[in-house]
Amino acid sequence: MGKPVTSWTPERYRELARLWDDGLTGGEIAARLGVSRNAVLAKARRLNLKIRESPLTAAASAARRKHAERRPEGKPPPEGCRYVLGDPPERWRYCGAPRVAGRSYCAAHLRACTRREPHAAP
Ligand SMILES: [Zn+2]
Repeated sequence: MGKPVTSWTPERYRELARLWDDGLTGGEIAARLGVSRNAVLAKARRLNLKIRESPLTAAASAARRKHAERRPEGKPPPEGCRYVLGDPPERWRYCGAPRVAGRSYCAAHLRACTRREPHAAP
């Protein structure tokens, strides 16, 4: 009772994902992280972890996961490039480099995002 509010740092998210992957139950993970089981399940859902469920709904959520493509851990940097780097889910992170004024990306990623014009200038 009266537990201090725990903040979800990237490390804790990672730990959650790891324990989840190891097959621990929500309750077990909650005990390790010192949070409520509900909090663990909510975070797991947010992180798109493989929710253990019946095969039927598992297929449905697999399709859903495909949609939720890139979901980096943590919040996007308030300032700094929002480009998502990395490939395996546990490596996703925001670039965070200084942004071009008025844009959400740094100069390099802004270029990377706008480069796909059909007609490349000679
Ligand atoms: Zn960037």
